[in-house]
Amino acid sequence: VFQLSVPLNFLGSVYRELRQSLLDMETLFNLQKVNVSITEKPSAPPLTLPKGGEIRFENVSFGYHPERPILNNLTVTIPAGKKVAVVGPSGCGKSTLLRLLFRYYDPQCGRILIDGQDIREVSLESLRRSIGVVPQDTPLFNDTVELNIRYGNLDAPLEKVHDAARRAHIHDKIESWPDGYQTKVGERGLMISGGEKQRLAVSRLVLKDPPLLFFDEATSALDTHTEQALMANINEVLRERKRTSVFVAHRLRTIYDADLIIVLKEGRVVETGSHRELMELNGLYAELWAAQEMLMDRAGERVKEA
Ligand code: ATP
Repeated sequence: VFQLSVPLNFLGSVYRELRQSLLDMETLFNLQKVNVSITEKPSAPPLTLPKGGEIRFENVSFGYHPERPILNNLTVTIPAGKKVAVVGPSGCGKSTLLRLLFRYYDPQCGRILIDGQDIREVSLESLRRSIGVVPQDTPLFNDTVELNIRYGNLDAPLEKVHDAARRAHIHDKIESWPDGYQTKVGERGLMISGGEKQRLAVSRLVLKDPPLLFFDEATSALDTHTEQALMANINEVLRERKRTSVFVAHRLRTIYDADLIIVLKEGRVVETGSHRELMELNGLYAELWAAQEMLMDRAGERVKEA
């Protein structure tokens, strides 16, 4: 028995590692990784978070092609434990900030610090383990609901998986599916709605419970009602765990309650503040807000007319 269990354990750990790399691949594809040229320092120490996850961009300049800069000498601090939103016109570099934080690319100038440590100086594994991402479109694997949630933490006991699903308000729904947590989802499995998919993504994140949470247009594919419900769930988890969270958002209504809103334009920070402060400033944020409200009103009128 002993002889047999050793290789099985070994296989088990290989299997877990494989799953984990699949999970990393998933995040990677969602952030549209195309670059593989970043290198890790030999025997780099792990990232530590003595301040609780303060993120600082210091004079960061970056372009996917150096002759076409996307971020221009950008300096901004994302305080530990706060909910922060990055907004701005399409193409201004919001998602690029997240890709740099994940070290899919390194900036050409400047540095990115997490709790005072340059992210190029710490091990990649520890950096990526500290970060959880909910992307715009969460791909589901052709596997059971349970495993799809478990990708967040492969060794978690079943009770924790259920807890995570409860936190994401999807537990009861899962129980109502034909095979409960053993129901197969993904391309060849049960058809589930966009909202349910996003809730599974949130379950996964709750289970992983990373100190830094990134939401990359995570709710933009949802209708307004589902989006609000999901945001309420996310906010509840964030408040409770006091995690640093960064939301890249188009719809300003989803982030107006953020502690800090960073407004980007052409790769520079043009305004920062709370919703109220930015409205009073009457600059780009106020302009974007007014434009979106007008669209909402028009949409409302169309509904009334119909
Ligand atoms: P949106 O709100 O439209 O999602 P964004 O503010 O998130 O935009 P980014 O996705 O960060 O913008 O992209 C910033 C710029 O970089 C865009 O002009 C985009 O076309 C360009 N870009 C993004 N990814 C790449 C890439 N892999 N290679 C080359 N250019 C890229």
